[in-house]
Amino acid sequence: MRIDGAGGCFDNRLYEIDVDVAWRIALLSINEMGVTIDELDETNRVIKFHNKNKIMQLAFQILDEETVQVIMDSTKERLQIYNWKREDGEVNQFYDLFEKKLTEYRAFILCPGCSAKVSSLAKFCPECGYKLK
Ligand SMILES: [Zn+2]
Repeated sequence: MRIDGAGGCFDNRLYEIDVDVAWRIALLSINEMGVTIDELDETNRVIKFHNKNKIMQLAFQILDEETVQVIMDSTKERLQIYNWKREDGEVNQFYDLFEKKLTEYRAFILCPGCSAKVSSLAKFCPECGYKLK
């Protein structure tokens, strides 16, 4: 559910994915956003980070074995009560990156023989010939 507020934006989306995979993909996505990570709490699965405009927080909530809720919150350092300009750039950027990487992740597997990234549809690894199915 998207909530646009004064100088910030909140969104939460559900993904059919293991929470460890979601965590890894989220970290890769954040690395591409050009932000500074302030806190990485792997136990509670919370990442706090910022750029020059916003303070952001990412949280993961396990709903069941294969459903995880990814929650992203961004706010300006100082609330601008009378500013109704949309401030959802970072939130959109994060989910775009996250979903792109998730699609890539689902389309490839790692070869158990040589760890090469191989199409999930391949029967043999093109690098080492390992039989995949
Ligand atoms: Zn291989």
